[in-house]
Amino acid sequence: MATVESIPVAPPNEYYEIRAIPGKGYGCFALKAIKRGTRILADDPLLVVPMANYMQRDIQEAFEKLSPEQKAQYFTLHSGHGQDARKWPSRIHESVAEQERQRIQEQHQARIGKEPTLISIFQINCMEMDQGAAVFPHAARFNHNCNPNACFTWNSAIGKETIHAMSDISSGEEVTISYCDMVHDKKLRSWELKHYGFVCDCRACGEDEDDESTFAYQSATRRFRLQELERETRFLRGSRLECGAREEGFVKKLLEMAALHQQEGDYTARLATVFLDMALVCEFNKDIRMAALTAAKAVQVKKDCQGADFAEYAKYAAVLARLNAKLAERKA
Ligand SMILES: [Zn+2]
Repeated sequence: MATVESIPVAPPNEYYEIRAIPGKGYGCFALKAIKRGTRILADDPLLVVPMANYMQRDIQEAFEKLSPEQKAQYFTLHSGHGQDARKWPSRIHESVAEQERQRIQEQHQARIGKEPTLISIFQINCMEMDQGAAVFPHAARFNHNCNPNACFTWNSAIGKETIHAMSDISSGEEVTISYCDMVHDKKLRSWELKHYGFVCDCRACGEDEDDESTFAYQSATRRFRLQELERETRFLRGSRLECGAREEGFVKKLLEMAALHQQEGDYTARLATVFLDMALVCEFNKDIRMAALTAAKAVQVKKDCQGADFAEYAKYAAVLARLNAKLAERKA
């Protein structure tokens, strides 16, 4: 007799519910129209592993501390086990150190195993948290899309994983996040997603990238150009921004990056940093009006994707306040 699996339940909230997707498990669907910047979820960690290169014993240790209910909740999450061993490399290079070798073997065994294990659940559900990773039981229910309509962040100030709408979402639309770097090309994305045990069939992955009339072609072109621009500007940003300010065409490159991120629907913290850098460069070049305009955009994006309670937000708000004060001084 077939067993009926119960549908996972979202925490009490006004924005989304979990529904079954025929042949694809479950997904989170909007219960009403959601505006960009809305915090859809703020989720407490269930199981925390405080280091990046965790071993099975580290997950075990964290798991032992959970209550019986929490342990049961952990095992309701999707697991990455049951993958085809032939689709993964069978040898580990001899230069790999013993500890790392054991780590790779543990991960591999979990992936190709026949049953869900602590690792097979952790490896496809964990999200970065401070120096390590954690499983957030509700955030883990959101499916992947290479052009998602929401983004996730570990917010250390409130101790929760947040999910924010990064575009306006229609009622009934699935709310998705990206499990991989949005700038990566299709080949790299499919390698990253292979670790989660699925092949992405979103528009950017499913359509023909060589057909100029498709979204996939346009998206691939934008991602390629963004990677180029990131390489060209990488060493002129952050602490070296003053060098960038003196470089011919630098602001134009930042402008192009901001435009491409927006066209790709990538309203994440990365777009906020591009706007902030533009503002600081304009300030350095004494174009205070433009600096204040772009700083306002940086603040808006930062708030929309992470919230005003995110620790770094204060830095953005301070730049905008400083520029607005300079502007007011000039007008006086
Ligand atoms: Zn995709």
